Amino acid sequence: MSSTTFDNAFVRELPADPETRSGVRQVHGALFSHVRPTPVAAPRLIAHSREVLALLGWDGAVVADDAFARVFGGNDLQPGMQPYAANYGGHQFGNWAGQLGDGRAITLGELINPQGQRWELQLKGAGPTPYSRSADGRAVLRSSVREFLCSEAMHHLGVPTTRALSLVATGEHVVRDMFYDGNPEREPGAIVCRVAPSFIRFGNFELPASRGDLPLLERLVDFTIRRDFPELVADAAADKHALRARWFATVCERTARMVAHWMRVGFVHGVMNTDNMSILGLTIDYGPYGWIDDYDPDWTPNTTDAQGRRYRFANQPGICLWNLERLASAIATVMPDTKPLEDALQRFVDVYTECERANVAGKLGLRECREDDVRLMDDLRGLMRDAEVDMTIFHRALADVAIDAPSLAPLQGAFYDDAKRARAEPAFIDWLARHAARVREDQPDAATRRAAMLAVNPKYVLRNYLAQEAIDQATAGDDSGITTLLDALRRPYDEQPGREALAGRRPDWARRKAGCSMLSCSS
Ligand code: AMP
Ligand code: MG
Repeated sequence: MSSTTFDNAFVRELPADPETRSGVRQVHGALFSHVRPTPVAAPRLIAHSREVLALLGWDGAVVADDAFARVFGGNDLQPGMQPYAANYGGHQFGNWAGQLGDGRAITLGELINPQGQRWELQLKGAGPTPYSRSADGRAVLRSSVREFLCSEAMHHLGVPTTRALSLVATGEHVVRDMFYDGNPEREPGAIVCRVAPSFIRFGNFELPASRGDLPLLERLVDFTIRRDFPELVADAAADKHALRARWFATVCERTARMVAHWMRVGFVHGVMNTDNMSILGLTIDYGPYGWIDDYDPDWTPNTTDAQGRRYRFANQPGICLWNLERLASAIATVMPDTKPLEDALQRFVDVYTECERANVAGKLGLRECREDDVRLMDDLRGLMRDAEVDMTIFHRALADVAIDAPSLAPLQGAFYDDAKRARAEPAFIDWLARHAARVREDQPDAATRRAAMLAVNPKYVLRNYLAQEAIDQATAGDDSGITTLLDALRRPYDEQPGREALAGRRPDWARRKAGCSMLSCSS
């Protein structure tokens, strides 16, 4: 760790807030504020990701050193780190919210690993910044465990995401009113160190555009293209506006691929505000997210969104497009015409449609998805919703249905309700016959089909109740549940004998329990 190289391009090349005193404020004409993490009482490393350590070029032994918990608990800086909080705005739940900024995230620096790759290290929960508004800059253990585990689980599932290096207990308490119902409680605090090539969000561009500060916006756009999309610059003889158009089209494509992965694995982000959308098309800001158990396209775990259900599962691709439109409006202020931006938004639709078809093929065990197969999938989704069928278990087990003699037997474990299953059985048997007929003409080799299905339909996902059990255990002083889950989620597509309990249906007690099916933004 001691010989690590940092190259802090963001703070070197972009305008800083000249004000250095602490205190919440509106920051104009600057893209960030210098701010140091606030030290905590007793930093203690709870868990780390060995894969992320390796990405950073660090030896596994560094975590044993007290210095590691001190740095990633915010009590110490390594040479070369230049901590800052970024200034951005955003649309929250469909409305422009003005300046938001990193209210509790503090970037430590941009690490250059031995392969020359850039990795931004960012603490979440490291204390107040100029952007903390009325909040404390801290994070609770429960939400930090959830962010740490889900970042790594998503990566191993093949979903583009920010990563998590470490989870550090602060030894301090924070006060939270979990459901905003007048019942604040003291909860243990923690800090996650997140890692990504860049934490720039759609909202970073929206804020200067909303203020009419076009020179600042241009600096950020051109910096982002240069630092985070070098492949576009390398082969571009293009002028700056053509380059910006290509860049925005790339953002649209990446966002489409990301959300198609969410739909494949049953992930519901929960708070898809434009300040929570990564310019790199990474899943970012794990808050009140959740995983689909019984298939329900209208489900969202976020109680803060219970009324409008804006961010419900099936709405996520449409919301990505809406958010990209907000980004397009910001970028349009520094473009001579908007046609290329409109084309890029259409590119989102086309790429998403193509990815969704690949999902249909993968989930049904087909080599290619034809028009009729989309209908076959839609019919299945309707059946799964009406009969309360577990999405993850069903698609995994579908690989075990014999095509010569299809039956519901391998799929029994996916049903939550016996009465509903009995009622739906004839419809499912019909559907399985249609599916078998289609598979016979597409991919008759059973072993090949099965292997292809198991590679894209996970067995292990971070079900909400599993995360909650690990949190309850950790709150009682036992961190082992976190490391067990982290380990299982490393190989989500493998059978892991002895770990079947982590791949079962959500238990009944977890159906309507806080943390399992209901979460809020209070974290
Ligand atoms: P989120 O909904 O987590 O994306 O947060 C929205 C905004 O609130 C961002 O500007 C966050 O930095 C800020 N925020 C959330 N929680 C806190 C906190 N505990 N302290 C300070 N700022 C916060
Ligand atoms: Mg956020």
